[in-house]
Amino acid sequence: MTPSQFTRDLLESALNDPDFNWQDRQDFEFAARGLIHRPDDPAIFDRNGDTVWHHEAFEAFLHGDAPDTVHPSLWRHALLNNFRGLFKVTDRVYQVRGESLGNVTFVEGDRGYIVVDPLTTVETAAYALQLLFDHVGARPIVAMIYSHTHSDHFGGVKGMISEEDVKSGDVRVIASEGFTEWVVKEQGMAAEGMPSRNDYMYGENLEVSPVGIVDTGLGQMIEGGEVTFIEPTDIIGKDGGRMSVDGVEIEFMFAPGEAPTGMHCYFPQFKTLHVADNCYMCLHNVYTIRGAFPRDAMQWSDSIARSLLFEDTEFLISGHNWPVFGKAEIQQFLGEQRDGVKYMHDQTLRLMSHGYVPAEIADAIRFPPSLARLWHLRGYYGSIKHNVRGIYAYYLGWYDGNPANLDSLPPRDLARRTLDYMGGTDAVLERAQADYEAGQYRWVAHILDQVIWADPGNLRARALAAAAHTQMGYAAENATWRNAYLSAANELREGIPTGEKNHRVLRDVFKGMSPVLLMNSLSIRLNGPKAAGHAFTINWKIAGTEEACHSELTNAVLISSAGTDADAGLTITLPRLLLSEFALGQIGVGALSGPDVSMEGDLNLLAELASLLDTFPAWFPIATHDLKKGEIGT
Ligand SMILES: [Zn+2]
Repeated sequence: MTPSQFTRDLLESALNDPDFNWQDRQDFEFAARGLIHRPDDPAIFDRNGDTVWHHEAFEAFLHGDAPDTVHPSLWRHALLNNFRGLFKVTDRVYQVRGESLGNVTFVEGDRGYIVVDPLTTVETAAYALQLLFDHVGARPIVAMIYSHTHSDHFGGVKGMISEEDVKSGDVRVIASEGFTEWVVKEQGMAAEGMPSRNDYMYGENLEVSPVGIVDTGLGQMIEGGEVTFIEPTDIIGKDGGRMSVDGVEIEFMFAPGEAPTGMHCYFPQFKTLHVADNCYMCLHNVYTIRGAFPRDAMQWSDSIARSLLFEDTEFLISGHNWPVFGKAEIQQFLGEQRDGVKYMHDQTLRLMSHGYVPAEIADAIRFPPSLARLWHLRGYYGSIKHNVRGIYAYYLGWYDGNPANLDSLPPRDLARRTLDYMGGTDAVLERAQADYEAGQYRWVAHILDQVIWADPGNLRARALAAAAHTQMGYAAENATWRNAYLSAANELREGIPTGEKNHRVLRDVFKGMSPVLLMNSLSIRLNGPKAAGHAFTINWKIAGTEEACHSELTNAVLISSAGTDADAGLTITLPRLLLSEFALGQIGVGALSGPDVSMEGDLNLLAELASLLDTFPAWFPIATHDLKKGEIGT
């Protein structure tokens, strides 16, 4: 679809906006500095030959001036994220950038390499390591550091090292206190509810093109492939610490912010500071629109402030985007990043304390000109609007304090009644069409959402809503907002995708978990209303180990506790992998068989449990509001 005149005017006006210093080209110099090799192959593939990472698709269009379907500020950022390949940051410090959503850093020791953040999937990790080996030299990996708990910083680990390397003591795996626990907390339990939202934010179903995905802020997109996990062997406590690994001195700083257990690493010999994802070349994401609990903005600002104490730093690198070079430049950059997150925090609390509610605060807060004109605080990933709502929610939760909103009607009912008061669907559609033609896209998207809630089959409403979302997508400076708007437009036009998808459930993380944790992840699939009146206990024993738990169904909840229960009606002994696949819903009870599995007791209990479990859909509607599987009242 083509951009409207309103959209074109808006993008045009950005070119003359004093917030944007188009003459400032320092980022282009920093992004290009130290390039050793830029691969010219078309893509990175998995073992089946499927593309996990595009090269050609982005390069086909990412050059020259912004087209009239992309905000010029986002376009500039997308050009910068397209500087990719193997880079030398300084002597003995290398990065592969732009070959994954994230960056991997290699620090050369006496004998081998220390890796910081092995990317998202084994395919891109192995590719990055090969680039290093081919162009700098093949040497063993002696240590692996995870800067924080998000899968784009550990998921590729098995593309670089194996469990055996770690068990044998050849490789240390270093992370901060609470690492594994927070991996599960942040991404484990919500793993089934997040993927469709994740796809919206990262534009995973959009075509790579000027009318589709052009960037995600942190990088070009999330790569496909296999996410893996290896537990840390060395834990850095909240007081930080120093370590010497293979002749390399490392100072660790506990740095909660973008992740609750983030960790910065300073390499004094190389005057290089790695700041995890607490600073990157776009605005912080205090709340992430894929869904997560809001981050602690106050702590985040403090973590950046404490990083200023590494005042000899001459090379600042992070988990995404490009480095900052130069002592003075780094001090200035860190101070501005600190101030950006602190400004959002303090101003949200100021307005909250006057009684403003989230939607008002989101519309009111702007950066002062001194921060607004900084490219590295532009909202390509975080946005002020969604961050300040997150900050409000961090302190006060979802409720705005207004009893009119304490027990609001569910959206379908609310929409039907509202439209009835407004004179019905046709009357609303007529006015919405006129407002669309007047360029009122934000309002039109809102009111048509009501129509679609009330009448999901209304194709006229869907088409007009898709058009409004498309125009907002083209006009968005924020990459994740653009992706979300364009994904909504796709869903409104074509419905939700069909077929299988890779949910990137963190199977490898759960594989090593205790039986209790595994069964706790199963309990969210128990259908409460169906389970009412059922009661039994099943013991789960991991074959060849002493590990066991028992799950008791009572009051329509499944309570799992360590150890076995002598009164359990059924005891199942099975391999850990089978238990984890069952707990994560990858296999049904029918697959709990074979020579490795033994059962004692009332076998019917397993079938009874299975009959009470929900299967989650690969995709669920977000913009179309079709009836959901299991929707109340259907
Ligand atoms: Zn990241």
